[in-house]
Amino acid sequence: MAALEEPRREAQAGSHPHSVREGIRRQGCRRHHVFSEGNFDMKRVGLILALLLGCRLLGYSDPAQAPGNETPRPYEAIAMKIITTALGSGRAYEMLYDLTTNIGPRLSGSPEAAQAVLWARKTMKHARLENVRLEPVMVPRWVRGPIEEAAIFPSSTHETIPLKVTALGGSVGTSDQGITAEVVEVRSFDELKAPGANAKGKIIFFNRAMDRSKIKPMEAYGEAVNQRSRGAVAAAQAGGVAALVRSMTSRLDDLPHTGALDYEESAPKVPAAALSTVGAQRLSELLARDKTLRVRLRLSCKTLPDVESANVLGELVGSEKPNEVIVIGGHLDSWDKGQGAHDDGAGCIHAIEALRLLKQLGLKPKRTLRAVLFMNEENGLRGAKAYAAKDRPGESHVAAIESDSGGFTPRGFSLSDAATFKKLANYAYLFRVIGAARFEAGHGGADVAELARKGVPTLALRVDTHRYFDYHHADSDTIDKVHDRELELGAAALAIMAYVIAEEGL
Ligand SMILES: [Zn+2]
Repeated sequence: MAALEEPRREAQAGSHPHSVREGIRRQGCRRHHVFSEGNFDMKRVGLILALLLGCRLLGYSDPAQAPGNETPRPYEAIAMKIITTALGSGRAYEMLYDLTTNIGPRLSGSPEAAQAVLWARKTMKHARLENVRLEPVMVPRWVRGPIEEAAIFPSSTHETIPLKVTALGGSVGTSDQGITAEVVEVRSFDELKAPGANAKGKIIFFNRAMDRSKIKPMEAYGEAVNQRSRGAVAAAQAGGVAALVRSMTSRLDDLPHTGALDYEESAPKVPAAALSTVGAQRLSELLARDKTLRVRLRLSCKTLPDVESANVLGELVGSEKPNEVIVIGGHLDSWDKGQGAHDDGAGCIHAIEALRLLKQLGLKPKRTLRAVLFMNEENGLRGAKAYAAKDRPGESHVAAIESDSGGFTPRGFSLSDAATFKKLANYAYLFRVIGAARFEAGHGGADVAELARKGVPTLALRVDTHRYFDYHHADSDTIDKVHDRELELGAAALAIMAYVIAEEGL
């Protein structure tokens, strides 16, 4: 994902050094001879720095903020109102607290997911959204079951070393006795295919860590996650009997992180589980000294028949072009770990709160804004596919915005195509006050990807993701990890962006 330069503010009068001097002048901080050429001794440099700092602290470093120089730019007043209303109301956090503590995790097809659908409908109505409705969709029903166990048996002792594991979503279970086998550790699929890999009849241990040197954790995740999604297939193709995968987090702790795996018809379905990063290190260290140690894995997970569920929709109907729709979405399902607070309870609340804020402020956008809480993003994308496939006569989608990176401090947006980027980057100034003016080229996200395939421009809210993979798909993804103000600012950023697109079109 290539980061593009934030566009320059066009209305800004003068360059930054000039603005600092302007501030100095306004404050009565005269430009004495210390600025004249050839006169720089260290004392004076120190004095200049102190003056500059002092004037900056007094708020006179930006001409746009200086008294008598406030040229309002389009939507600036509305954006400020949205931001202060979001922070002042505290509603976003209240809604997320309600969802996460009264319902909790919401795996597709589970009774909790069914409750979450009703919760979303009630919450949207309470927020006074219009045309609140369910769009039914059949979803997979995978259940974890009560047994998730693994242990190491070193070859030279009778000791048993327990390992924390969690089944990967969609995995088949083991027999009651479990699978006990020697282990082959690899860091890539190529290593597994290499001559001498000797994987037949063994448990394949995928232990490639996320690259800590990446500035964007999402990139490190993207590079490592094929071990989780494709590890079971690769293990089976090499003759392995099960897959153990290092959890997708760069944090060293004893919490295994789940996530979806794929199977292929051409390869046997072998059970697969995630190890905590501490467990993965331990196993790796023991294997280095003891190649014939064995691991036992027991899982009771299984797949049941599909279940009917639903996407949940609510709108602010456009005042001039109601058939032109801007989608704002998150996914209502989560893994059955923690409370699904950041992933993606936060995104659902962002979508509802963005519309609620506009409604509360009496703003009537020209085009329709539609919050869509998609079902089954985590293990099937059935909700996203059903939404995009549905015939909606007379209606067209202008854009689709997704929030699925957690409820952290918003930093900006990624935009799917050059034309959208060019148009919307002109409004980056609206987000600067909350530090969310970083616009990047990139995709919108999994739930809006189906719409993107149909040519709809997509956007994603980008947040500070340094802590995201501490909690992602793990028992630690709970409401106490979400900060109320950070969540509220995300909703405000989405509301501003959605409103601008609804007014201006694309
Ligand atoms: Zn998610």
